[in-house]
Amino acid sequence: MTTDRYPIVVAGAGPVGLALALGLLRQGFAVLVFERRTRLATDPRATTIQPPVLEALADLGVLGAVDARGRRVTSLQYWDWGSERELLANVPLNAMRDVSAYPWRLHCTQPDLCAVLHEAVERELPGTVQLGSRVSGFIDRGDYVEVQVEGGGRPRTVRASWLCGADGAQSAVRKRLDTPVRQLAGVDTFLTCEVATPMHQLRGVEIGDAAFLFTALGPALFMRMADCVRVLMLVDPEEGTASTRDPEAVARIVFGADSGVELRNRAVYTVQQQVATTWRQGRVLLLGDAAHATLPVSGTAMNTGILDGFLLAQALPHEARVEQWERERRTELEGRVDANALAAHRFLTADGWIARKNRRDYLTALGRNPTAARAHALRASLLEDRT
Ligand SMILES: Cc1cc2nc3c(=O)[nH]c(=O)nc-3n(C[C@H](O)[C@H](O)[C@H](O)COP(=O)(O)OP(=O)(O)OC[C@H]3O[C@@H](n4cnc5c(N)ncnc54)[C@H](O)[C@@H]3O)c2cc1C
Repeated sequence: MTTDRYPIVVAGAGPVGLALALGLLRQGFAVLVFERRTRLATDPRATTIQPPVLEALADLGVLGAVDARGRRVTSLQYWDWGSERELLANVPLNAMRDVSAYPWRLHCTQPDLCAVLHEAVERELPGTVQLGSRVSGFIDRGDYVEVQVEGGGRPRTVRASWLCGADGAQSAVRKRLDTPVRQLAGVDTFLTCEVATPMHQLRGVEIGDAAFLFTALGPALFMRMADCVRVLMLVDPEEGTASTRDPEAVARIVFGADSGVELRNRAVYTVQQQVATTWRQGRVLLLGDAAHATLPVSGTAMNTGILDGFLLAQALPHEARVEQWERERRTELEGRVDANALAAHRFLTADGWIARKNRRDYLTALGRNPTAARAHALRASLLEDRT
């Protein structure tokens, strides 16, 4: 019995599961995606698509549609956001044009990206994504996997050549495998909120599309989206129940006391950086948040997950290539990506006079040193390995 008589089953229709499904469909594989929700998630999470993922989306034939819903960001700014607003560094991203055809980041909301991927999957093969269908268990039979699915009527069992767990940070597939998860050093607690207009002036200064603001309450990230502004502010997980978790306090310090801006979609999230110690057991695989969680402040978590899916689609169904995929992706995440995310977190949250002075010196030096600015841009854009 050959396993490719059965479809490849993907648990979860988040950005990672959908990118994997689209990659597989475009290579002619039969795929089924089971999503426990009755509609795709709409909560505003990731905002930033990095150049390697823009390349992958181009390969999948959906970059034009994603680009149309997003805003191209051509520089990263760093501001001292005290009583005197001072631009410390403006890092141009087009300095990376020799290593990527897409030397910018695209601000596009996660729901918009998922909508485009979902439409493309359904165009490729209608009925691939089955909403309201939860993967509740599975048995690896060696040659194939029996996947139990609940919802949409009675429970059923589906035979799969592979089961790919793209079911998020609380992955039921990972828990069922009993795969140990290694907690890494970083934890981010942050508040996010939105303002309905893509404002170009902030507290009297012209501001770029992606700006890190060093405020008295801690670092904030200002992101201009296609039709709104998103702010993400790191808060202290230990304390901060008062001012630093209060969206109105964030509004006062970021937008100004009398700005009158109205905040919507407010939420506080905590993310623990972690990685599953193995991403493959037999015919069951883990990817995206199910396999690793990276601090969102680096803007890379969804991106690395989509790359997991894109590259897995090229490796399946060949055993040796799947082995290699698992080894390379896990090593990449455990090494460079997590180290960079942690370094970004420490850099942004550095406190105390000396640490703040070092950060200021580093950032102001970027303006005088294009080589250092380019290295910074590559590191912040998941392109460091192309130097
Ligand atoms: C506030 C915030 C901001 C962020 N900003 C960024 C950013 O700027 N850049 C970035 O790269 N990342 C960012 N991230 C991280 C990003 O949101 C995640 O990395 C991304 O959602 C991971 O995608 P995924 O498909 O692996 O998992 P998810 O998006 O969690 O999708 C998993 C899907 O699986 C479904 N599911 C779960 N269990 C089952 C089951 N048993 N059966 C079937 N379906 C199931 C879920 O309903 C869900 O739809 C941010 C996160 C947060 C919280």
